[in-house]
Amino acid sequence: MAKASKTMRKANIRSSAPKGKPGKPATIAEKKSRPAAKLSAGEIREIFRRFHAANPEPKGELEYINPYTLLVAVVLSAQATDAGVNKATRSLFKIADSPKKMLGVGEEKLRDYIKTIGLYRTKAKNVIALSQKLIDQFDSKVLADRDVLETLPGVGRKTANVVMNIAFGQPTMAVDTHVLRVANRIGLSRGATPLAVEADLLRIVPPEYAMHAHHWLILHGRYLCKARKPECWRCPIPDICRFPDKTRAP
Ligand code: SF4
Repeated sequence: MAKASKTMRKANIRSSAPKGKPGKPATIAEKKSRPAAKLSAGEIREIFRRFHAANPEPKGELEYINPYTLLVAVVLSAQATDAGVNKATRSLFKIADSPKKMLGVGEEKLRDYIKTIGLYRTKAKNVIALSQKLIDQFDSKVLADRDVLETLPGVGRKTANVVMNIAFGQPTMAVDTHVLRVANRIGLSRGATPLAVEADLLRIVPPEYAMHAHHWLILHGRYLCKARKPECWRCPIPDICRFPDKTRAP
């Protein structure tokens, strides 16, 4: 695990949002992208202090045995729930916990194992292809190198960041739909893309909280700051969050 520096980095949230035209009512897109007041460095630290206090060791919810099965599980989890992936991989990983064994299963049988997961045909193809590539080029090993991971079929930046964080203890910021939404609502970022939000989080999250930051934000978005209706009345950070339309207890 990378050692956290005690140095406090100054919060500096970028403004790239278009503004509404004078005299015209703002569109929904413009409203959503209006600059919010900046969070101070102290507020950012307090947000993560509270997340840490509530859940000191947050864990990803995907089940895996080793870096290879973690990689496969994350590839399968795109646009699917972790619970759904776990249901399929529990029996799969018992017989295929290495690239060689996965090739032994073969694409057709793999499809059967994962057919309850969305996009399973493409995912099966990718899992077989990435397993072959690991054997051919990387001695069957999943390397702790994000650039290398991103060359594997079906592996994008988010997947590579998750593997780097969970399997190799790197303080990466994997930005999924939850993290993108929550970071914007709270005021941690105004990035419109995962890459922009990742860059903001890498810059502003205090180092001592960087290892778990994306987990806290994912869990916060999944269970509390939900897409359709955030549950602000039971949120630990409503006094800091910049979201203007906070909800009350039903
Ligand atoms: S106060 Fe509401 S909008 Fe803000 S982080 Fe909490 S749940 Fe989300």
